[in-house]
Amino acid sequence: MAEALSTQPNGASSASAAPSLTTYTPRYIDIGINLADPIFRGRYHGKSRHPDDLKAVVGRAVEVGCTKLIVTGSSFKSSRDALKLAKEFPGTVFATAGIHPCSSSIFSPSHHKHHDESQSEGEGEGEAEHTPACDPDPSKPIADGDGVDLVRSKHIIADLTTLITQARTSPTPELVAFGEFGLDYDRLHYCSKEVQLHSFAAQLALAASLSPQLPLFLHSRAAHADFVRLLKDAFGPRLERLEKGGVVHSFTGTVDEMRELMDLGLYIGVNGCSFKTAENCDVVKEIELSRLMLETDGPWCEVRPSHEGWKYLVEFEVKAKADAAAAAAAAAAAEAAAVVAAPEEQAETGQRRERRKKPQQQQQQGKKNQKKEPEVPERYKVVKKEKWEEGAMVKGRNEPCTIDRIAKIVAGIKGVSVEEVCEAAWANTVKVFGVDS
Ligand SMILES: [Zn+2]
Repeated sequence: MAEALSTQPNGASSASAAPSLTTYTPRYIDIGINLADPIFRGRYHGKSRHPDDLKAVVGRAVEVGCTKLIVTGSSFKSSRDALKLAKEFPGTVFATAGIHPCSSSIFSPSHHKHHDESQSEGEGEGEAEHTPACDPDPSKPIADGDGVDLVRSKHIIADLTTLITQARTSPTPELVAFGEFGLDYDRLHYCSKEVQLHSFAAQLALAASLSPQLPLFLHSRAAHADFVRLLKDAFGPRLERLEKGGVVHSFTGTVDEMRELMDLGLYIGVNGCSFKTAENCDVVKEIELSRLMLETDGPWCEVRPSHEGWKYLVEFEVKAKADAAAAAAAAAAAEAAAVVAAPEEQAETGQRRERRKKPQQQQQQGKKNQKKEPEVPERYKVVKKEKWEEGAMVKGRNEPCTIDRIAKIVAGIKGVSVEEVCEAAWANTVKVFGVDS
């Protein structure tokens, strides 16, 4: 787009030849945030490390303009917890319900516990209660051959149907998507390929049978061909029976895979994991704005300085500083011009300018004693979980308030404005998940 786009926060947009004078207030919807993870209650690997600060996490998100959060349900327990959170923060938090490929070992005959973990709450909690992290794990994959427990599978799908049906009777729209579900061949140590394939197919059949259907919140990692094949089996070769659309979140696949998903009418969700390498960023460049959604996938997938995408954040900050300096210079020039026009005010204005200089000088002197400013500033203080303090973020625990970084990096990669990215993602998300009520 050659013309500057001036967009109001209410969504009305108008093209004009001159840059907009009104500053744009960004708005975000985090389509994938694992707020049901106990880490947001201060619990790490089953141990309480600091006070429950979930309300502060939601508060920080809203403060930066991330006013809608779609909390991922990835097991029976996290889906129920996500729905509870949606009731707690009506109009801000929404939920999905489904069984993640990494939680799909409940379909396997060797799984001991009752599949609905919420019924065994309190026992054996720990590592397993966390949502699976995004990074591939070098642990040994579980081999096929164990088969699927078909009787158990029937019960699981019946229980999931009940969970979804009950959630849909709520007068307020907490449940906005079916998922998270799909395939993850990078993490076969949680669940074998054959059990993942069964879990995905069984849930797709359920999703297709719902009336009306729900939009889909999908996960596909290193499994593209099987992923697309099963989707087509359930919804037709053009996904023509998929009524409400869907998003493939945390996308890290190839350009061709992404194009195939877009051609099928699906949306692409990007987070910090989508900018790790130069190849990843090349893929993001090709995502149509009309297909883009933004997410943090917190507590995972934060953008790190080692990631290729980081340089776009640095560029953004450099440009923001230059813009601010140019604006200040323009204001000073305007003031000087005014002084020439009205010499009698010169003395007073000169004094004012002197007064303004002083704090700047003091600041510069103060800075000499401080350590170097980070190239990408943190909006909130970040502390280690052992040194938790109120109002601070926890190091290594990604939060929805960092979603502005995702928008800035996408804008940098695609060479468009942050405003265009935010408004496109907002419109796409509202269209599919209807979270604007
Ligand atoms: Zn996922």
